[in-house]
Amino acid sequence: MSQTEFQIIQQHFADSEAAFSRPEIVRGIGDDAAMLRIETGQILSFSMDVLVADVHFPATADPELIANRALAVNLSDLAAVGAQPLCFTLGLTLPLVNEHWLAAFSQGLVPLARQFNCPLVGGDMSRGPLNIAIQVQGQGEAAIGRDGARDGDLIYVTGCLGDSVLALASFGLDTHLGGEFKIDSAALSAQDRAYLHEAYYRPQPRIEFGRQIVNVATAAIDISDGLLGDLGHICNASALGAELELSALPLSDCLRGSLPEELQQQAALLGGDDYELCVTVAPENATQLESIADDLGLRLSRIGRMRDGYGIDCRDSEGQMREFDASAYQHFGDVE
Ligand code: ADP
Ligand code: MG
Repeated sequence: MSQTEFQIIQQHFADSEAAFSRPEIVRGIGDDAAMLRIETGQILSFSMDVLVADVHFPATADPELIANRALAVNLSDLAAVGAQPLCFTLGLTLPLVNEHWLAAFSQGLVPLARQFNCPLVGGDMSRGPLNIAIQVQGQGEAAIGRDGARDGDLIYVTGCLGDSVLALASFGLDTHLGGEFKIDSAALSAQDRAYLHEAYYRPQPRIEFGRQIVNVATAAIDISDGLLGDLGHICNASALGAELELSALPLSDCLRGSLPEELQQQAALLGGDDYELCVTVAPENATQLESIADDLGLRLSRIGRMRDGYGIDCRDSEGQMREFDASAYQHFGDVE
């Protein structure tokens, strides 16, 4: 490692406010590997997300926001398995070393690292196209998988769906929902623009909710690729189908006010990047699930039910079946 690389790591990562210590960390940044001491019997969860410039975020976006979002989407995966965050590592490839960019990027990691007591403990850096890989580690006495849903379980979702893809469209960027999915951002109020900006760059990882429902929910997933695609993973893993009530989908006032109904539903079902949790629960535990969300001040909507069979049926308020292309967002297109 050259002296400059060493200095960069020291200044922007080892000395960063994101690299604080906690008792489990035996060694953080600076040794050949980070070392943690874990209590016997705990389940250790790992999750990694790679974010590619201009695929997962606009390359020219504010580096502080990029960092915040990169950590948020990783923490969201821990939320989905019900884990308490422990620490994270960061792999960065950068086309050139820009001190201002790096300083802002490392600052952008601090708020969520602090909020969830999840310090930066190591990583790697290399020259290359801008890519960000974060791996988070979490722990808990139990965990939630995708495969535990049962016939008749109720399906819930946190927060609102569809705002992130609307945000992308409002930034003037293409979305995978196609050319029809456009909005005139000049027509949005300043309040709506600010709301969408936050929805895209500062998704709220539902860590506390995930942790508290660990022994209540039967299955959970975070919605990164769109509700239909991600609920589809619960269906496949649990060998069940599902029914959704379109009128129950949680939509923000901003989304309702910006698009015709058909596109609102497409955004909510296929949009992706929501980082809300989709959860299944046995009917007898539904009240408990609802009161956990209530106590956290978290919006929680019952949107359907698991059923025997295959596929996800969507019904409108008149009970009519509606078809949506559930291929969701596939990073590699049609892989043979
Ligand atoms: P090695 O050559 O042993 O792989 P490196 O030179 O890559 O070590 O890194 C030295 C130390 O700095 C290690 O502890 C590593 O985890 C840490 N580190 C390197 N890059 C980053 C980064 N982007 N963020 C946080 N820590 C980093
Ligand atoms: Mg290395």
